[in-house]
Amino acid sequence: MARNNVKFKFKIYREDNPKEGYRSKRCSKCGGVKEINEFSKNKYTKDGLRVQCKDCVKEYYEENKEKIIKRTKEYQENNKEQIAKRAKEYRENNKEKRNRYIKKYRENNK
Ligand SMILES: [Zn+2]
Repeated sequence: MARNNVKFKFKIYREDNPKEGYRSKRCSKCGGVKEINEFSKNKYTKDGLRVQCKDCVKEYYEENKEKIIKRTKEYQENNKEQIAKRAKEYRENNKEKRNRYIKKYRENNK
């Protein structure tokens, strides 16, 4: 009985069902049927609302924020030597190029 009820709700509140008096929506992430005001607006979707509820979007951003901070730190840590090496090489290469350029310039402008 309870299972049938859930199925029934799911059918009515499908996000692609533009039924009148449509006040709830099923979150694509947590699967919960929530009030329309629990979803942020999104002009790119059929019903003008995000497919995920505010709680899931918030959760997603919080999770992502931590991941981004962690990844950025890890990237900087992992690439510290590489970045320093590249910068050194770049300076050295540039120094040679620069010296060649100056030499050439001086020769051409004697
Ligand atoms: Zn959700």
